[in-house]
Amino acid sequence: MRLTRYFLPVLKENPAEAQIVSHRYMLRAGMIKQQAAGIYSWLPLGYRVLRRIEQIVHEEQQKAGHIPLLMPTLQPADLWRESGRYDDYGEEMLRITDRHKRDMLYGPTNEEMITDIFRAHVESYKQLPLTLYHIQWKFRDEVRPRFGVMRGREFLMKDGYNFDLTYEDAIHAYNRHMVSYLRTYERMGLQAIPMRAASGPIGGDNTHEFLVLASTGESEVFYDSAITSLKFGDRVVDFDDRAECAKIVEEWTTPYARTDETHDVALFHEIPAERQKTSRGIEVGQIFYFGTKYSEPMGATVVTPDGNRVPVHMGSHGIGVSRLLGAIIEASHDDKGIIWPEGVTPFPVGIVNLKQGDGAADAACEAIEKALLAKGLEPLYDDRDERAGAKFATMDLIGLPWRITVGPRGLAAGKVELTSRRTGESEEMSPEAAVARIAEIYAGV
Ligand code: ATP
Ligand code: MG
Repeated sequence: MRLTRYFLPVLKENPAEAQIVSHRYMLRAGMIKQQAAGIYSWLPLGYRVLRRIEQIVHEEQQKAGHIPLLMPTLQPADLWRESGRYDDYGEEMLRITDRHKRDMLYGPTNEEMITDIFRAHVESYKQLPLTLYHIQWKFRDEVRPRFGVMRGREFLMKDGYNFDLTYEDAIHAYNRHMVSYLRTYERMGLQAIPMRAASGPIGGDNTHEFLVLASTGESEVFYDSAITSLKFGDRVVDFDDRAECAKIVEEWTTPYARTDETHDVALFHEIPAERQKTSRGIEVGQIFYFGTKYSEPMGATVVTPDGNRVPVHMGSHGIGVSRLLGAIIEASHDDKGIIWPEGVTPFPVGIVNLKQGDGAADAACEAIEKALLAKGLEPLYDDRDERAGAKFATMDLIGLPWRITVGPRGLAAGKVELTSRRTGESEEMSPEAAVARIAEIYAGV
């Protein structure tokens, strides 16, 4: 992508309304534009990151055997009357009346609707286990939308729902979600710690929240520092293997890690003093087992092997897809701008032409661009007629992890410069070597 043909409305000034760094940088880097309190347009750069995050979520969900579908944003109120939540949900629910005076709502979550789909089409235990999920916009009329996409009113969420015959089957589904989430967040360059949580209006006894440690987080968290050294890495997991999944869950849930809602002071003090940590955290996901809370009132039943009809055991599992952009920036930035992890970066690398209009420099940049494209890597090429300083400032602000700098002087010696956004370190090499290095870096991403 050539910057002169792109749409990247960067801001020079710090927007006054942004209180935290991720919100500030998302506005300054031209990623989002607020349209109403807690409602944003996703400008091209922000949209690219959002799509990357979605893609990772899809890939990891499907590896775990979960099946994507898409439910609508608008839902009939009658479904929510069946579960009893239409009245319970309160003012966070945006209620709408259509032209026929039917009560509708903009979905804050989808337990009722997915249960309705299930009961219409599933009859027998033989069709289980089943986990369906979607990535869809939600609306919650938050009292205090703030911090940009971190607490929006309209936000993108992955929400998945498991249907199982027995409690044990449902716990395996719960474990499968925890395991797949660990890998999902790591691919985004994040450490998200599963912490025991209290259930909210969605209900249920067995629940963990995934928290990214950050001083700007809204939750207060307590944990054993031992948990921060756990890495999921590249393990290949057999998601049908119950013991294997349970073992991974045990590994991550044995060290103490809780939000303030479930914090147990006595238990916390059993940890060696130097490992007792208190911090703030950003909730980027949550998993729940809630049994037959919806299947029973809504009649989502299956016929068992011995011919009885029983309500299915369910759980729901969410990832805050749009909130993740903010969380990643909170965890990865410096005073010049964002530092995207390779897994989610909008472009894998930026090309900076130090002397636009110079025949050799222009040709070298174009050749690098072409070579990267041939490897399936789309660079952002800053081909503006601008000072080097301004180009570097833009690249630093938008946070591409790698930059290739091309200038007539270096080219005379057959060299360009490859710079890491994270460390600031530069290395001179031939244009071909720079392309090869970028390809190597992204081969494992
Ligand atoms: P919170 O406690 O932050 O209000 P929640 O517990 O109500 O969130 P869930 O129902 O667990 O939210 O939704 C799943 C995920 O969706 C959350 O873990 C969070 O990452 C994301 N999310 C929830 N509310 C918002 C919001 N208002 N804006 C952006 N993301 C949100
Ligand atoms: Mg939650």
